Amino acid sequence: MSDETPDIRIPADLVPRDGRFGSGPSKVRTEAVEALARAADGYLGTSHRQASVRFQVAALRNGLSELLALPDGYEILLGNGGTTLFWDAAAFGLIERRSQHLSFGEFSAKFAAAVQAAPHLAGPEVIESPAGTHPDPLGRDDIDLYALTQNETSTGVMMPVTRPSGASADALVAVDATSGVGGLRFDPAEADVYYFAPQKGLAADGGLWLAACSPRCLARIERIAASHRWIPASLDLKIALDNSRKDQTYNTPALATIFLAVQQVEWINSNGGLDWSAARCDRSAEILYGWADKADFAAPFVAEPADRSHVVATIDFDGSLDALTLAAVLRANAIVDTEPYRKLGRNQLRIAMFPAIDPADIEALTHCIDYVIDRLA
Ligand SMILES: *Cc1c(COP(=O)(O)O)cnc(C)c1O
Repeated sequence: MSDETPDIRIPADLVPRDGRFGSGPSKVRTEAVEALARAADGYLGTSHRQASVRFQVAALRNGLSELLALPDGYEILLGNGGTTLFWDAAAFGLIERRSQHLSFGEFSAKFAAAVQAAPHLAGPEVIESPAGTHPDPLGRDDIDLYALTQNETSTGVMMPVTRPSGASADALVAVDATSGVGGLRFDPAEADVYYFAPQKGLAADGGLWLAACSPRCLARIERIAASHRWIPASLDLKIALDNSRKDQTYNTPALATIFLAVQQVEWINSNGGLDWSAARCDRSAEILYGWADKADFAAPFVAEPADRSHVVATIDFDGSLDALTLAAVLRANAIVDTEPYRKLGRNQLRIAMFPAIDPADIEALTHCIDYVIDRLA
């Protein structure tokens, strides 16, 4: 707490049971961490080439296939380096010649920039839209990969995942689902590669990438690998594919991350799967946006209700209130990471509503904000 932070103590009966509302890394369920502690002796610090670790990797791959209801022929690939590394791997091993990128925030723009810098590819088509909205893809003959982002974590905008009409028959639809996975509905028929890191929607830790790949995507990986393109081994999706099929990674992964991701996927699957977890996020979104709509000092940043993310909410505050001060008071009361995305530069709070976050805690958070605002006034 800085010296300027007003000393406001929120009563204990108002505060959420868990005060983590960050959009990444995000709340890891305590039960998952306890399960890791119980399993640690036979798991952490053991070889990732042996059965106990490979068993967890298999559980993750199988659990994700179940969660995402993947049809036969789809496969889960994984490797080290998180989503950012996957973008580079895609530039080497998924894009044949030219991609199209929907750029509507920090993360979607970064993938476009990574591809723009690749000398072996044609310049990508980048379709932008202002913060708080999303563009739609445009089917074109010369595009072989469409880059969509299911949830733009920096702005709190979600978009439907659908194959663009007019796309050529073997074009790939690639979807960044780092914050969408597990919380937003998904139809595998509409995407060829649904990729993510597990520290947001999946309530685990960072450092890993995972990708649900369609047969068309797997064929693309094989075809590019067989061409003469130079691909660094750590970015080589064919090497990742071969290792994934053996429930391994090319080099040593973070074993705790894998374990925590399995815990979250199995927790969702045992509670009713994606329908259950998406409904839970719908409920959180209804509470939070409903509260913001009613408040005279706050409003959802995203104007179009259908674009308002059900996993990351951005709430604007009017000029009489400083959102950073509000976030600082919340932080001093152990309600953390509600600060706005810094580069967006708005007077707002950004609040995660991932499946791990209890809708009752979202409700409690709104009461805490009301309480603090009453006292700041
Ligand atoms: C956080 C985030 C990323 C970056 O993930 P890293 O694992 O840190 O590389 C990419 N895309 C989206 C949508 C994100 O939210």
